[in-house]
Amino acid sequence: MSKPTKALPYFLGPEKEQKDEYKRVLTETIEAITASVKDEGAYQGASVEALQQTLSQFSLLPSHGIGWEALLEEVKQTILPHFLRTWSPNYMAHLHSPALLESIASELIIATFNQSMDSWDQSPIATEVEVAVVQQLCNLYGYGKESDGVFTSGGSQSNLSAITMARDWYCSSKLNHDVKKEGLPASYHKLRLYTSEVSHFSMEKSAHLLGLGYDAVRKVPVDDLCRMDVQELRGMIESDKQAGLLPFCVVATIGTTDYGSIDRVEAIRTVCDEEGMFLHADAAYGSGLQLSPTYRTRLGDLSLCDSITVDFHKMFLLPISCGAILVKNKEHFSVFTLHADYLNREEDEEEGYTNLVGKSLQTTRRADALKVWMAFQCRGKDGYEKIVDTCIENATFLAKALLAHPSFTLAIEPELSSVVFRHIGTSELNKRIRKELLHHHQVVIGQTVYKHQTYLKFTLLNPTITKEHLSELIALIDTLANELQQ
Ligand SMILES: *Cc1c(COP(=O)(O)O)cnc(C)c1O
Repeated sequence: MSKPTKALPYFLGPEKEQKDEYKRVLTETIEAITASVKDEGAYQGASVEALQQTLSQFSLLPSHGIGWEALLEEVKQTILPHFLRTWSPNYMAHLHSPALLESIASELIIATFNQSMDSWDQSPIATEVEVAVVQQLCNLYGYGKESDGVFTSGGSQSNLSAITMARDWYCSSKLNHDVKKEGLPASYHKLRLYTSEVSHFSMEKSAHLLGLGYDAVRKVPVDDLCRMDVQELRGMIESDKQAGLLPFCVVATIGTTDYGSIDRVEAIRTVCDEEGMFLHADAAYGSGLQLSPTYRTRLGDLSLCDSITVDFHKMFLLPISCGAILVKNKEHFSVFTLHADYLNREEDEEEGYTNLVGKSLQTTRRADALKVWMAFQCRGKDGYEKIVDTCIENATFLAKALLAHPSFTLAIEPELSSVVFRHIGTSELNKRIRKELLHHHQVVIGQTVYKHQTYLKFTLLNPTITKEHLSELIALIDTLANELQQ
């Protein structure tokens, strides 16, 4: 291995050389990234073995550092060509969005200054940005003065935070038991959480982590549109109560991961009020629809929920990770509050310094709220409305086209921007179509199971995807299906 030509300075700083080197490293990186983008493909197709083979040549920690120039060369050869291109109109496998240009600039600022959101003295302006962003987000979703929120790593952490609050609130208000201090109550195994059978798996994960176990999660059947059946919910709660169990929480999914179907919060709120239960809205997917005056009524009134999961790395097109949990009554955040002499002294708050660690599962935490602050101002209401509406309208178009096509069937009419469909051939054929697209056509689409059959899925988060392109993809899939069946 050759010695580095010149040692790279450690950090950015006020010296000319530090600034020049900062600019050089970033400029060279930007050049390498842009040069690596050669076509519209979503993935250049390398197999698992090929990627593992390439990486096996490297020692993670060589005896002598190879320096910046050689490193960049390696990254250009080995890593960049194989990244998935999330901006590609051929990428629509998951709720995984491309990142808006201005938000990549935010990431650069976030990484350069490396603020940490746990205490004000580690993130002065970044803390105030998060406080301001959270306040306005609470307004956006219809919450009042008592509300509050905090940024999270995404929907899973937001859901875990909400279910923790729900559990502790229920134990304290109904069982007169302080979980924070004493741990789970003796009747912990009777606690039950209700969510639809097509909800996200973070419900089970949270139940496990919270000491309740998967059995605490009751999966409510869904109607024809994959929305929680509220009559079934009532019935399950009633029979569980009769069996001596303790229903404490309902999680409504506002945009299911597969179908984008939206549970009806008004009807579920009524049940929760009658039963004295906490209502959480998992709007990881659907939260983006709030920015569309045309379509937001599809969400229902989310302000009826005690807490709301919002994910910005889905419909809002911000870089991973970026999510938030909003809470109608900020008292619930006390679940996460602890004071340490070395970090977030109580006297700080008396003096007006906000230490956000008191609301979070995390301690060290990225300044992700800056991405929302910058992108919202850059795009504005009109810009975001166009992004969201284009995706919804593309989904409607695609669903109609599939319904009209003799080779395809649709699972359900989309409410958001996911379209689940299948070729009328076997499940095996549908699976092969997806793999064929991935490895030979640079097209990455999703796959799921609906009513025991394999379905394909287009998750449309990218507003640059056109209707013409969608028509071409349907034709391509039809052609592939014919070829594979021969
Ligand atoms: C994506 C998603 C989640 C998980 O969010 P992450 O940001 O991936 O942790 C939770 N619930 C729903 C409905 C989702 O679609």
